[in-house]
Amino acid sequence: MASNDAIEQAKWDVMSANHILAREEVLDGYGHVSLRHPTNPQHFFLSRSRSPELVTVEDIMEFTLDGDTVGNDDRPPYLERFIHGSIFKARPDVMSVVHSHQVDVVPYSISSVPLQPVWHQACSIGSHLPVWDIHDKFGDTNLLVANLAQGEDLAAALGRNKVALMRGHGFAAAGNHLQEAVSMSIYLPKNARILTTAKLLGGSVTVATPGEVEKAGVVRPEQPAFQRGWEYWLKRAGVKPRH
Ligand code: MN
Repeated sequence: MASNDAIEQAKWDVMSANHILAREEVLDGYGHVSLRHPTNPQHFFLSRSRSPELVTVEDIMEFTLDGDTVGNDDRPPYLERFIHGSIFKARPDVMSVVHSHQVDVVPYSISSVPLQPVWHQACSIGSHLPVWDIHDKFGDTNLLVANLAQGEDLAAALGRNKVALMRGHGFAAAGNHLQEAVSMSIYLPKNARILTTAKLLGGSVTVATPGEVEKAGVVRPEQPAFQRGWEYWLKRAGVKPRH
């Protein structure tokens, strides 16, 4: 694939992911999804400050990992772009990041009860989901990741894990590719609902073992089984094929 086409495809993929995550109610007017630049790993793509459901290919902006705009693009960016750049900087293996305020997940960011994988569809979220509390290092803030230092602290809390919960705020999911970041972000809230429901039943709860997480948690976009789900999400979101 020629470089220019790879860039156009990347922007199209970011637009598609925005529409899917909006349709699946992972993102509402807020939250965002990014993709590392396909030929320059020091840059990434993210929409201008716009609701995910409305994002077009033309809205996609290019940033450095420090969150600075590339080129003379003076459109307002998302304040919390530092979430993305900081994770891309700390984790060369990560190609795509989703940040969401999805409400079924948030209880686990304020409770001592850990969010753990309990459902086979959600095993890609990993066995351990650290909770990052912005107050630990930055005291009283407006709870938003508004600068590089806060982004880097979040990335450090994420460590080698797939998902970090953000206390009283939401989550950040880090995927090896866009499809993994999107599917994790769709199944994470469903897993949270299942776990909450199971706990309400009052008995004991069985979580997926680390070995099960390892075996069930691999997302392979090239496989027909995954493409079936991706096609379904694109269709529901009303995204037309690019070619
Ligand atoms: Mn946020």
